Amino acid sequence: MPKRARTSLLRTLKAAGIFDRVRDSRWRRRRLLILCYHSVCLDDENQWRPGEFLTPARLRDRFELLKRGGYHVLQLEEGLERLRRNDLPARSVALTFDDGTCDFYKIIYPLLREYQFPATVYQTTHYCFRRMPVFSLICSYMLWKKRETVLPATPSLGVTQETSLSQLAARETAVHQIIAFANQRQFSSEQKNELAAELARVLGLDYGELSRRRVAQLMNPEEIAELAAAGIKFELHTHRHRTPRNRDLFLREIEDNRKALAEITRTRPVQFCYPSGDYDLMFLPWLSEKGVVSATTCEPGLASQRSQPLLLPRFIDTTGQTELAFESWLTGVGALVSAGANASRIRSLFSSRR
Ligand SMILES: [Zn+2]
Repeated sequence: MPKRARTSLLRTLKAAGIFDRVRDSRWRRRRLLILCYHSVCLDDENQWRPGEFLTPARLRDRFELLKRGGYHVLQLEEGLERLRRNDLPARSVALTFDDGTCDFYKIIYPLLREYQFPATVYQTTHYCFRRMPVFSLICSYMLWKKRETVLPATPSLGVTQETSLSQLAARETAVHQIIAFANQRQFSSEQKNELAAELARVLGLDYGELSRRRVAQLMNPEEIAELAAAGIKFELHTHRHRTPRNRDLFLREIEDNRKALAEITRTRPVQFCYPSGDYDLMFLPWLSEKGVVSATTCEPGLASQRSQPLLLPRFIDTTGQTELAFESWLTGVGALVSAGANASRIRSLFSSRR
């Protein structure tokens, strides 16, 4: 459905009291809304990737809506267990944060504490131990930062032709060239970091400053350990943020990720989230074999008893989601509309107390 038609449908439903009715229905009570977030911006990253970075103010607004709406924010593990037992409180929500970037420690965790909301971080771990930016991300960010300029052909970066950086597609091509250049030479993380520093030099950016501000960096082991001790759950998201179709490589991603998290947090994580929402049915037996009990996707929906535990839906909250759309998902109306239900269908479903 086009965005304008959806907005007008949601407005109509809200004005007619349908949001409240669905929110307090038996149907909604039997469902858990798992919210997916990534990061909040330290600087201007929300303009670079509005889908992954919210401003801290926006995240606070969302938490305020959860609080004012009387939503029960449950730890994911508890939410899934109570969903299984058909024992969820009304208006159940679980908060999940993908990747575990350093802004979680600096900004998101203090906000969670203020609101006393539990949360799960799906932590990718390769870069946690390296205290340097994630290579692909920092290259992409720097090219965006210099989007009003031209990147000259630079053989030492693997960039074969002069590239105007104003268009997203051209920037992505340049990033792919630089990554391919590093991969062909089997660069270590340290060598990739030097390559990123070289890109910064060519672009006229201060790489030392970007590194000090920890742009595109993950939480380090000390930060993760501190938050784990304070009650944040750290769960699986693969070690290198990838989902190979090769069984041995896939299992290694789980093993390496779990080993790293176990060392840092002294727990054995068994919940998983597909990086970039990239899943394949072939992964399910592999996850079961590794003792993984739940896995979340980026497919929009509310989790119910009928959901496959290794393919749980989530709602991804992004900069582009209006407050009305977000609220519609909290109540459950958003999921119904997304599944194709029209106004009269929703009205008839929730006309009497269910
Ligand atoms: Zn991720």
